[in-house]
Amino acid sequence: MRYCFGIDIGGTTVKIGLFSISGEIIDKWEIKTHTENQGERILPDISESILNKLEEKKILKSDVNGIGIGVPAPVKADGIVKNTVNLGWKYKEVKREMEELSGLRTEVGNDANVAALGEMWLGAGKGQENMIMVTLGTGVGGGIIVDGKPLVGAHGAGGEIGHLCMNYEETEKCGCGNTGCLEQYASATGITRLANIRLAKDDAKSVLRGQEVSAKTVFDAVKAEDAVAKEIAEEFGKYLGHAMANLAAVADPSAIVIGGGVSKAGEVLIEYVEKNFKERAFFANKDTEFVLATLGNDAGICGAAKLILS
Ligand SMILES: [Zn+2]
Repeated sequence: MRYCFGIDIGGTTVKIGLFSISGEIIDKWEIKTHTENQGERILPDISESILNKLEEKKILKSDVNGIGIGVPAPVKADGIVKNTVNLGWKYKEVKREMEELSGLRTEVGNDANVAALGEMWLGAGKGQENMIMVTLGTGVGGGIIVDGKPLVGAHGAGGEIGHLCMNYEETEKCGCGNTGCLEQYASATGITRLANIRLAKDDAKSVLRGQEVSAKTVFDAVKAEDAVAKEIAEEFGKYLGHAMANLAAVADPSAIVIGGGVSKAGEVLIEYVEKNFKERAFFANKDTEFVLATLGNDAGICGAAKLILS
């Protein structure tokens, strides 16, 4: 049997998975992300943890194909990270350092691109060689898979779906400094913002009044047939659906996978997005399938493992 490791580095924890190369998760665990001193301990901690695991499982290094790592930053195929917001790293040669520390071949990718790869390999996008994954969390992340490979780009920033400009009239700023980004309407915070704007517009009756509004309360209200909540969901669906239609005209995917915390709303969310997608999609893209992500928090480790096998 041959093995590989999939690593998902986040700001608070590092998720690690030991996989067979055919895609079974043999073991998974987490270690703390030590971000102090410019995150100098992060890679040594990971290396130590996986070498200990090999010893514990009595697996020879020669039976391991390598290590795939997803990092929350733009990263190119050379495995060099120029800056990170939440790991403390400035310039870091992640691939080279990890190979030196562990003695194992290493490949590095952006975490959102890697998560898309995970859904393609073992999740909702299984068997799809052309796929877009959009992750709706605090922000909007994305990964675009073309012919089985993530679109990385010249700056390692390919697939930054959240910063497509969807509204030229917007005056409020996105976290990136621009205005009108998809993230301002389709993330958990974006949906809350749309809801608050809609509720302030008039005094139409809604179960959303008198409670703290969130993406979850909005979609719960949609399920309870609340008319105002449905308007908010429709607006969200327009932004995300039209953004996906634009992307489909470029990448021509067979499936669009929707994941992240907001996607817990379930099929109802897909309905709003798919309807608006169909309204704007180029005729050749209209049949693109919409599916909910299935791997949850494991998408990152699965995709990272796939990175080293590709
Ligand atoms: Zn932005």
